[in-house]
Amino acid sequence: MGVTGLEKLEWLSRFIDQTPGDKQIGGKPRQVPGVCWSRVAPSIPPNPKLILWSKEMANKLKLERGHELVLGGGSVVDGMLPYAQRYGGHQFGNWAHQLGDGRAITLGEVQLPDEVLELQLKGAGTTPYSRFADGKAVLRSSVREFLCSEAMFHLNVPTTRALSLVTTGEMVTRDVMYDGNPAPEIGAVVCRVAPSFIRFGSFQIHTADGNYDALRQLLEHTVKNHFPQHSVADDNGRINWLTHVAEQTAIMISNWMRVGFVHGVMNTDNMSIHGLTIDYGPYGWLENYDHDWTPNTTDSSRRRYRYDQQPQIGAWNVARLLESIAPLMDDVELLYQVLERYNQYYSELQNSMWLEKLGMENLQESDETLVDELTSLLQQVETDMTIFFRLLSAVEQPDITLLKAAFYDQDNIPVTEWNVWLNKWWKRVDGLPNRDKMNEVNPKYVLRNWMAQLAIDGAEAGDYSICEELYQLLKQPYAEQPEFDEKWFKKRPEWARHRVGCSMLSCSS
Ligand code: AMP
Ligand code: MG
Repeated sequence: MGVTGLEKLEWLSRFIDQTPGDKQIGGKPRQVPGVCWSRVAPSIPPNPKLILWSKEMANKLKLERGHELVLGGGSVVDGMLPYAQRYGGHQFGNWAHQLGDGRAITLGEVQLPDEVLELQLKGAGTTPYSRFADGKAVLRSSVREFLCSEAMFHLNVPTTRALSLVTTGEMVTRDVMYDGNPAPEIGAVVCRVAPSFIRFGSFQIHTADGNYDALRQLLEHTVKNHFPQHSVADDNGRINWLTHVAEQTAIMISNWMRVGFVHGVMNTDNMSIHGLTIDYGPYGWLENYDHDWTPNTTDSSRRRYRYDQQPQIGAWNVARLLESIAPLMDDVELLYQVLERYNQYYSELQNSMWLEKLGMENLQESDETLVDELTSLLQQVETDMTIFFRLLSAVEQPDITLLKAAFYDQDNIPVTEWNVWLNKWWKRVDGLPNRDKMNEVNPKYVLRNWMAQLAIDGAEAGDYSICEELYQLLKQPYAEQPEFDEKWFKKRPEWARHRVGCSMLSCSS
């Protein structure tokens, strides 16, 4: 199949054609009531360089490698009508009102044979929604978004994608730990791709404004283009659509739990209406299995977005979406059933997730206890989640010494307790766990926090080889890639335990 240039793609502008927009183009940060978008022009990068390129994403778009000028924000091609989206959101549980794309600019939507994909630049300068910030992004956070979103795709976790990472040739000042030490960093722009970047907060803002016309138009646009199997002409249709969104959200979060991903900032403005993982900020991966862990230092005291609270936060966020649709409902009481469905569906997904992770079939009553005992044992001493589950699929007998590589302190493994548990599990699977299934759901390689940091350290020094190596490695996270094991199939090294960027991340990006 031949590849082509950006200018040859078929560009659509459905979002701006079908929803109300700002009369002014660009302009200073301000409140823009009643609209879904503002037209803007990306900032021109002084010296754009294409650094990372997703071949898989490009193949989907039938796009040849290149285009650093456009993908860095320096130019548009015919058919692109760049805009920033307006949305609101609950941040850490509090309503923040207008947020919007403060440093994201959509270039346009591309018509492909069987889908439409939106291309959006992250870090291409200010928009009316930039509030007090500069609309830029730094290399560090851009590498994290590019690598992680592509890795999540290959892990079969619903996610937005990345096409490219372009450095801009401009320095951007950031105070990484918000401790009064700002420093210049290399500026970058990621081009990310999704069916749309419509969020829960995209609906919430209109309800908060009391602008139900805009709310209805956005709802109709969303359903017509992205959920054509649904109709929102009546309560029944609206409930079916909302149920679909709630289910997709539950699917996304159960996948996060399966692979040990912690999003870090599950604000309602960061919840995609498609149930895609979106807005890769201070996310992290469980290394030692710790239910309470969150990578986000901004949330370190309350831990609202900690690993094991993600499913409940999903429900809380779905409830906020339901409230935002309430003004369009004839019978608002019906909305409760969507929340019930989320909870019930999530628990079904969780059950099947555990069956698969443990190579078991046909849920039994005792499985809940088996899983509870496992997760509490995993936390008794530092135990690496990824290595534990991967090695579990290979054990030939219920003996914890076969799994000792998963323990951070191998002299202090609670051997007796572990062997009691392993024997229970072994009996449950009749000595024949479904090893193939286990290896399909328990990844061997994930983007551990320190791995991303090593890629960033290299990139900041002008060496992108680790970025490339990780990008290649993480295309096949479930495959055995023994040539990489010494380097990447291993526990968090000691240096990473307290290093900024590994154990601690801020929202600064
Ligand atoms: P986030 O926590 O990344 O989801 O961002 C929350 C809000 O802050 C969104 O409206 C972003 O667009 C905005 N924002 C974050 N960083 C910047 C930045 N550097 N410049 C402008 N707006 C930003
Ligand atoms: Mg965001």
